[in-house]
Amino acid sequence: MEAYDVSVPVVIVGAGAAGLCAALAAKEAGAEVLVLERDPVPRGSTALSAGLVPAAGTRWQREAEIKDSPDLFAADIMAKAVGEPDAEEVGTVTRAVGPALEWLADAHGLAFSVITDFRYPGHSANRMHGLPSRSGEELVDRLRDAAERAGIDILCDARAIALHAAGDGRIAGLTLRRPDGAEDTLGCGALVLACNGYGGNKGLVRQHVPALSDALYFGHPGNQGEAILWGEALGAATRHLPGHQGHGSVAHPVGILITWATITEGGVQVNLQGRRFSDESHGYSEQAAKVLQQPEGIAWTVFDARIAGIAGQFEDFRRAESAGAILEAESVSALAAATRLPEAALTETLAELQRLKSAGSTDAFGRSFAGIPQLSPPYRAVRVTGALFHTQGGLVVDSSARVTRPDGSAFPNLFAAGGAACGVSGPQASGYLSGNGLLTAVALGRIAGRGAGALAQGACA
Ligand SMILES: Cc1cc2nc3c(=O)[nH]c(=O)nc-3n(C[C@H](O)[C@H](O)[C@H](O)COP(=O)(O)OP(=O)(O)OC[C@H]3O[C@@H](n4cnc5c(N)ncnc54)[C@H](O)[C@@H]3O)c2cc1C
Repeated sequence: MEAYDVSVPVVIVGAGAAGLCAALAAKEAGAEVLVLERDPVPRGSTALSAGLVPAAGTRWQREAEIKDSPDLFAADIMAKAVGEPDAEEVGTVTRAVGPALEWLADAHGLAFSVITDFRYPGHSANRMHGLPSRSGEELVDRLRDAAERAGIDILCDARAIALHAAGDGRIAGLTLRRPDGAEDTLGCGALVLACNGYGGNKGLVRQHVPALSDALYFGHPGNQGEAILWGEALGAATRHLPGHQGHGSVAHPVGILITWATITEGGVQVNLQGRRFSDESHGYSEQAAKVLQQPEGIAWTVFDARIAGIAGQFEDFRRAESAGAILEAESVSALAAATRLPEAALTETLAELQRLKSAGSTDAFGRSFAGIPQLSPPYRAVRVTGALFHTQGGLVVDSSARVTRPDGSAFPNLFAAGGAACGVSGPQASGYLSGNGLLTAVALGRIAGRGAGALAQGACA
């Protein structure tokens, strides 16, 4: 650290959920912390998200008499990603995330509650926790408030551009660049990479997720895959780089996320020919590519007023309503007129849906309609497209969130969390279980921060 004008025990790159959780934990471990953020204000993909964090065995679940456990949660993750994720990482994060949310509530005043009125596909218990507005903007703002209260410095307009490593892989410091082009170097005792994945880097998306290379990118443009590129240059292991979260329900052209509750509660998607084309209930992530394969890359999500009532708890949905993106119709023919879908085909599709629901049967795509309420007028519909939300592959970390090499050895003082680290979704879009993104941001963020803080404290002792 001697070669640097300024040195800080713990440096964190990125001020999204992962970086801010890491910062709070490192500070609590007694270390001085500096967070570097390339933007003028911390936002990241976290601010664009619905801010819902899955956790099992929390006190909010107990209060709502929801039976759940980290083991059940881990089994759901493994089932969705057909056994591809690292079982140890899955165990680590599913055990860590509940206590992490309670810590954020108790020590830092984040007012989480559990969603009880709908369930995301693949979760066998109601375990999505969110702040009152159910928005990621509130999540990142509350985390930033907490960091500021804890006396953590966040240096904005500061983009890390290079890491400086010693022969043993120890990170001595980094170079950062300011918007005017000025560069500074900074020494560190430990470094946490929390600068997410490569969703904003077209070249890397083309390389790893060709099916979505022309898709709308709905995540934070500043996420350029630098953690992965730096790690690869250092000889770190990466895994599941094609893994990602897509979404098959982004209102188009307004570009507002439409909650998947519109589907899980009984809605369906039809293409511009008025026909269904998939088992929508499997998950919104893999639905992105399926929607993009339809004529013009467009689908209509069709639901009703009851479902709109549930969806209305999401700020994004209310914004879509205000923007006029959610159409209303008193009958199927009025719906066909409003959406300009062929009336005969739409009528047939909705009649078939009604039959499937009455019989509680499974359709030709494999979607079961057992116990799913009928759609009834007034109907609602929204024109949507598929989008890339964020990438899920990344640096391989151990159970302390330390970055590892292909032989399993850990870099001495380099940690990764959130989208910078390999997540728990495997290499396919279909492996993404709702909430896997913020799960590893919050859980690994706290673990990484604790580890980095303890290491830096030890180094200073
Ligand atoms: C529309 C949308 C909805 C979503 N909804 C959910 C949801 O409800 N639940 C869920 O679990 N997940 C959701 N996700 C995924 C979730 O948002 C991410 O998985 C999560 O926010 C990742 O957190 P992070 O801290 O790793 O990254 P980010 O929040 O993206 O933060 C990374 C930060 O690093 C900064 N940065 C990048 N490079 C550098 C650099 N070189 N130097 C300095 N700073 C840098 C960026 O500016 C950014 O602020 C959603 C994603 C999107 C796009």
